Amino acid sequence: MVTSQALFERANAHIPGGVNSPVRAFKAVGGTPVFIDRADGAYLFDTDGNRYIDYVLSWGPMIMGHNHPEVREAVVRQAEKGLSFGAPTELETQLADRICDIMPNMDMVRMVNSGTEATMSAIRLARGYTNRDKIVKFEGCYHGHSDSLLIKAGSGALTLGVPSSPGVPACLAEHTITLTYNDTEGLRQCFAEHGDKIACLIVEPVTGNMNCVLPKPEFLTAMREVCNESGAVFILDEVMTGFRFGPHGAQGHYGIEADITTLGKILGGGMPVGAFGGKRRIMEHIAPLGPVYQAGTLSGNPIAMAAGLATMDIITRPGFYQPIFDRTARLCHGLEAAADSAGVPFTTNHAGTMFGGFFTDAPKVENYADVMACDTKTFGRFFHRMLEHGVYLAPASYEAGFMSAAHTDEDIDKTIEAANIVFHMIAA
Ligand code: PLP
Repeated sequence: MVTSQALFERANAHIPGGVNSPVRAFKAVGGTPVFIDRADGAYLFDTDGNRYIDYVLSWGPMIMGHNHPEVREAVVRQAEKGLSFGAPTELETQLADRICDIMPNMDMVRMVNSGTEATMSAIRLARGYTNRDKIVKFEGCYHGHSDSLLIKAGSGALTLGVPSSPGVPACLAEHTITLTYNDTEGLRQCFAEHGDKIACLIVEPVTGNMNCVLPKPEFLTAMREVCNESGAVFILDEVMTGFRFGPHGAQGHYGIEADITTLGKILGGGMPVGAFGGKRRIMEHIAPLGPVYQAGTLSGNPIAMAAGLATMDIITRPGFYQPIFDRTARLCHGLEAAADSAGVPFTTNHAGTMFGGFFTDAPKVENYADVMACDTKTFGRFFHRMLEHGVYLAPASYEAGFMSAAHTDEDIDKTIEAANIVFHMIAA
């Protein structure tokens, strides 16, 4: 048995910080990251021989649970035919057809390899389509790590305290306008002043990168209205929310009409996939049909497409989502009740299959400032004690949690039981 501690020490020799994505390093909570050996259903198994109930799910993709046999078999079958061709395959068309069929407001779609590529390309498309430079985003929303979008961003950027990264040129950053999430008045004011220069508005319909923060209905309506009035492209970043609120995404759930939608995570069923798509009149500006350049050596990779197709088959089966919605709600209610019984100030947000817990006595958490006011030190203690009780939460208080179809009522009960012990320990 090789321990996580030993593996982390070795990893640090040649990998910056020992990890290939910053939040994995446990910097926000301290300690050594657990190194994973394998995963199955709702569980992760580390190299030290521990099993965890997993609420990170590879940061969202594994909505069917880990190592789903149908996805695995689709991947293995496809791998036997070759790993990458760099030429068109029928699988790409099948997945594009499927996405356009399932997702609202999607006439055409382009496959890429990550959520970052999807949002970066969507922004370039919006700029090319409108001949404008400015983009509008919201504080605490994370849209991947491309330069224009790494301004006051969430997720790992928040964890490391560098929401606006060094290396992003000031001359580029000046084109990104950052507003407060859920502030409809501020949004209208910004578009009244700058509307004719704004190429696009990009938003997480439900945020999962400053923990889980839900949109106010009037905020969603106002975003569509200001884009209609100004001619800006409305980009819904559904990299995280896509296929987490039912097959039709958050836009199906809330009835929002996006011009361009970005996807990732669940779409690839665990393989590296992203996509951006939307209205034909805009998508026709992408090369080779139009002048806006976008490309990728491995884009539309056959194995990733096979995993995506198997995933789409599973999540569109009748009755797939309701039990996951129910378990998400049950977990949140159970956690709140456990915290109450221990007298620990704590609240939750949840929507669809996403949830977040906040150490705060504020009645509501609705934006970045509310999230930043929460007690991150207590979260760190909670995180480590939960880990000791076999529950794997995201190792930072700025990340949403996820539920899968593989989590059972027993898993939820065990998680609430563990939380009950840990909340009382924290209160003592
Ligand atoms: N957009 C959102 C809403 C995300 O949550 C993420 C990643 O967490 C991204 C974009 C970037 O995706 P990726 O990490 O695949 O590049």
